[in-house]
Amino acid sequence: MTRAVLIEKTETGQSSGLRDIDLPPLGPGEVAVDVAFSTLNYKDALALTGASPVVRRFPMVPGIDFAGVVADSNHDGWSPGDRVILTGWGVGESHWGGLAERAHVSGDWLVPLPDGMSARQAMALGTAGFTAMLCVEALARQGVTPASGGIVVTGATGGVGSVAVSLLAGRGYEVTAVTGRAAEAEYLTSLGATEIIDRVELEGAPRPLNRERWAGGVDAAGGAILANMLSMIRADGAVAACGLAASMDLPASVAPFILRGITLCGINSVTVASAPRRAAWEKLAAEMDMALLERMSSELPLEEVPDAGERFLAGQVRGRIVVPVAPG
Ligand code: NAP
Repeated sequence: MTRAVLIEKTETGQSSGLRDIDLPPLGPGEVAVDVAFSTLNYKDALALTGASPVVRRFPMVPGIDFAGVVADSNHDGWSPGDRVILTGWGVGESHWGGLAERAHVSGDWLVPLPDGMSARQAMALGTAGFTAMLCVEALARQGVTPASGGIVVTGATGGVGSVAVSLLAGRGYEVTAVTGRAAEAEYLTSLGATEIIDRVELEGAPRPLNRERWAGGVDAAGGAILANMLSMIRADGAVAACGLAASMDLPASVAPFILRGITLCGINSVTVASAPRRAAWEKLAAEMDMALLERMSSELPLEEVPDAGERFLAGQVRGRIVVPVAPG
């Protein structure tokens, strides 16, 4: 039996709680992982609350991320004792996920825990941190360097935003943090932001073009915020768009693209192929300031996960939440 958070659905709605479950037998190419740490991401909160239909079948063990140790393997690439990370691939949405003492997943989805990174640190990063690195790398690929100008980051006190601010500052960029929580200014400065602006400044009706303010952007919000950001990016700059915390819409014009040569880079962390996935984790191990990571992380016991979704979506959470499952 495996102790797990389980989301169940009946005619009266969905509910979640801690349960003892039987995992299905290990299939061909699959690996059994003893989960040491998991985490709570935005998507997990959506799954737990049912606020958005991210769960594709019920009952479901949520948890889109985990880090742990291989217990058994039907995959050539992995042996018992290997330390691994999983993020994405629909785990916790259509496959049973990481908020459980053990998980059975395809070995193709795993990456090795980088040297020098603990399982707890890997989950303090999680999908949010991995996504932040993909965004930062996308800007670099577009030729946006610290010499090009500042970078604006939205949802800055959130998981993706907090890690993005610290990674960008670590690479030497001037970072403007956009937040709805003015009270977190000191936190954002401690991560490396040099300017903090209230997100209402980016929430107004977007104009096709505005004064050029930043060389690049990392956007977790979508909607008018992303449209306004695009209108303020300097010529030949780039924006990495990864989120929809404000909206799925994009009420923008083509003006930033055809008159300023702006590039909009879409970021999807879920199905990144193995080689670039490993490379991004290696970069996180090399570049992430682990003291800052600790500062932006808090712990949530597994027993408290079933009730944590509402609080998360109400925007009452700062940075990253680590869930110790069986830390050993
Ligand atoms: P999170 O920790 O909940 O952070 C989201 C942040 O967005 C909040 O902390 C808040 O920051 C800001 N926010 C909340 N409501 C907002 C609103 N109505 N308008 C504007 N900003 C708002 O979530 P996360 O894990 O960082 O994820 C952020 C977004 O990225 C989510 O939409 C998530 O689904 C998406 N995501 C996508 C990928 C991908 O592969 N594309 C991967 C990970 C996450 P402030 O209070 O500082 O403004």
